[in-house]
Amino acid sequence: MGRRPKNKTAKQNALEDKRERIASARMIPRLRGMRDILPEEYRYWELVLNKAESIVKYYGWLRTEIPVLENLALYERSTGKQTDIVSKEMYAFIDKDNDRVALRPEATPGLVRSYVEHGMFSFPVQPVKLYFIGNLFRREKPQAGRYRQFNQINLEMFGEASAIADAQVILIGYNLLKELRLEAQVQINSIGCSLCRPEYVKKLVEYYKQRPVHHKLCPDCKKRLLKNPLRLLDCKEEACVNARAGAPQIVDHLCEECREHFVKVLEYLDELNVVYALNPHLVRGLDYYNRTVFEFCSEDSEQGRQNALGGGGRYDGLVEYLGGRPTPALGWALGVERIILKIKESNIPLVDTCQSNIFIAQLGEAAKRKAMIFFEELRKRGYKAAQNFVKDNLKAQLEYANKLGVKLTLILGQKELMDGTILIRDMESGMQEVFDFKKVYEELDKRLK
Ligand code: AMP
Repeated sequence: MGRRPKNKTAKQNALEDKRERIASARMIPRLRGMRDILPEEYRYWELVLNKAESIVKYYGWLRTEIPVLENLALYERSTGKQTDIVSKEMYAFIDKDNDRVALRPEATPGLVRSYVEHGMFSFPVQPVKLYFIGNLFRREKPQAGRYRQFNQINLEMFGEASAIADAQVILIGYNLLKELRLEAQVQINSIGCSLCRPEYVKKLVEYYKQRPVHHKLCPDCKKRLLKNPLRLLDCKEEACVNARAGAPQIVDHLCEECREHFVKVLEYLDELNVVYALNPHLVRGLDYYNRTVFEFCSEDSEQGRQNALGGGGRYDGLVEYLGGRPTPALGWALGVERIILKIKESNIPLVDTCQSNIFIAQLGEAAKRKAMIFFEELRKRGYKAAQNFVKDNLKAQLEYANKLGVKLTLILGQKELMDGTILIRDMESGMQEVFDFKKVYEELDKRLK
């Protein structure tokens, strides 16, 4: 290690040491809070993403991609400067053109920007229904199920104000989790609109300012009381959870229209048999929500707490706020990593739909060439075949086939090549039979039926 100026603190020196050690080591590790997804885990990803795509497409949602990097102002304006996401967790920087940019910490602002920028209000099919699957970045403290790069499935609907839209959007998320065989409950609340909420917030502040209550609040909540009082309701600190017990509830302070809207949403959910629970403390962390807010929760098996797999709500003002025409909108986001964690925890078995049932083994150079062409033909005809052409030894190939769990192994050797035949081995019984190569597809169809 090189000499360093004396005026550095111990912490700075330790940091520099660490950087030097990393630079001189042969392996450069991944960053904190970042993950590799290895093939074994990717099987869960396929399960979740395929299921999500098939369900949301069925309901008429269309996939949309948005950039990973956007103007920082987009998140400051929509997510809100006061939220933790923007104030503490964002990967934001000034790039070489002096632009203030940020890695997307959530997808909704980008999707709204895209909606506005492409004039989607005039698209022939309305309402506009978009879904997004992609990675997001938040510089949070990493822990189980909380990463700095993570993935979400987002579902958004633009241009529909009616309560049936809220119910349908919730239903789709609920159905997705149910089809993944996860026990999930919808927690739901209404946080009113710009007409009724201010009155309620005033009452809430009055409540929290009372001396005995204020005294017990955590330091963050004391600050929130000045900047974002609604957030006091979803603080997880024990003292704040106790303090909120006597707080006024927003559902008792909704204006007539918000109340009617909320009742209708609940009625639709009842009719659709969606299991939900009213949660008067659910406000969601973002500034842009209004009226219906909800979360998809599952029981945390270790701590017995409710754990959010995702959530969402209405954001009727956001499109206009980001430069578009007034457009009612709503949506949800589900965390892919959280869902996968839950699937693993619940020991839900994976059904491998890509599992091969035939293995092609070969012996000798000429047979290898014919096997390669045969393998291509099988692929084109839609058979699920596997191979290991880099291996020459037949025993090693059969062992490999065994590990894959295929039903049949087709063996091509020198003799078969000369005779125009092929050997078919039943992997379970070990029985082998010779067939005319021309009849191989017929025989396969018979045995794989
Ligand atoms: P949010 O966008 O904060 O409402 O989060 C929606 C869902 O995304 C959460 O319920 C989690 O399932 C997931 N999520 C949020 N932040 C993270 C993170 N840092 N790591 C993994 N999943 C996350």
